[in-house]
Amino acid sequence: MLPNFDYVRPRSVRGAIKQLSSYGAIIHAGGTDLLSCLRDGVLDVEKVVSISKLNRLKGIGQLSDGSLRIGALTTIAEVAASRIVKGRYACLAQAASEVASPQLRSQGTIGGNICQKPWCWYYRGDFDCLRKGGLMCYAENGENQYNCIFGSDGICYIVHPSDTAPALLALGASVRIAGPGGARRVSMDKFHVRPAVDVQKETVLESEEIVVEIIVPPAPEGLRSSYRKVRVRRSFDFALAGVALALQFSGSKVTGGRVVLSGAAPVPWRSREVEDVIIGEKLNARTIAKAADAAVRGAEPLGNNGYKIPLFRGIIEQQLAAIAKG
Ligand SMILES: Cc1cc2nc3c(=O)[nH]c(=O)nc-3n(C[C@H](O)[C@H](O)[C@H](O)COP(=O)(O)OP(=O)(O)OC[C@H]3O[C@@H](n4cnc5c(N)ncnc54)[C@H](O)[C@@H]3O)c2cc1C
Ligand code: SF4
Repeated sequence: MLPNFDYVRPRSVRGAIKQLSSYGAIIHAGGTDLLSCLRDGVLDVEKVVSISKLNRLKGIGQLSDGSLRIGALTTIAEVAASRIVKGRYACLAQAASEVASPQLRSQGTIGGNICQKPWCWYYRGDFDCLRKGGLMCYAENGENQYNCIFGSDGICYIVHPSDTAPALLALGASVRIAGPGGARRVSMDKFHVRPAVDVQKETVLESEEIVVEIIVPPAPEGLRSSYRKVRVRRSFDFALAGVALALQFSGSKVTGGRVVLSGAAPVPWRSREVEDVIIGEKLNARTIAKAADAAVRGAEPLGNNGYKIPLFRGIIEQQLAAIAKG
């Protein structure tokens, strides 16, 4: 059952920030994640601040320097269907099209997607775990088949649930944030927070701050990109393992780019190990095999998720082989 809360729908970003400054206030965008959190008692909320009337947060457009601007209230379905996104940033369109189900993609927004709460079932259930301010992590020695293999800091073993965030990180995107002190811009690689920094936060956002838009830099010459996700159910499910590739090529040689794993860590996980193996090299069978080894180096599987090691190796091999073909 949903708890009681006040509900407001301000018409300006400034008005929304003001509403968010009161105790226990939280943003409501599409509500696909927030309402589950409220229903499951995950969040203690006094006031829900709908941002649905903030029209300047909607839509996709191009900026004068060639960057792409995606308003935070743009739906996931709009991102997946956008001609410009499909044409220039294939990994983002593919990631958006892999999010949840058609209904959730039509309702859920890209801002909500990168800010969503973790789906660790202890966190969503009646367990007062570390991330909810309790004293222990139940997943570490519990039912941890869907938890992380990297980046837990020995504290919290969630995987970051977003499909679009790894693609945005691979593309070098940044997030524009509005707050009481004005606007700030944070690159995607600094937006999500590791457990050692703050186990109760997923992002750098303060409680009065709103993600206004996401900026994706112009696609560099020779960019090829893709997103691949493996999940239990084809209908809708979170990533067991996924990879966003955004690589620049000159002929068959990789000259730059990023490789980001999903379903791997509490934050979208940039695999510099794979990047180090492939950048400056031709993507042939030997390089690809080395990259697959590098992808899982340093992984720390838990009791029930060791299967993720061969899974990540396999998808890295397949995706690099596919992208090498152009
Ligand atoms: C059954 C199910 C399956 C799902 N499967 C997937 C999946 O496979 N892949 C995936 O990526 N996601 C998945 N999701 C999550 C879904 O994508 C997100 O719920 C959705 O994108 C969130 O968008 P929203 O607009 O509904 O956010 P809301 O539910 O409104 O908000 C989510 C959170 O983000 C905060 N927030 C929202 N907008 C902003 C903003 N502009 N600035 C600051 N904070 C903000 C809210 O306060 C809240 O804490 C699934 C969800 C469900 C229920
Ligand atoms: S992994 Fe994190 S969210 Fe899940 S039980 Fe442990 S502390 Fe809580």
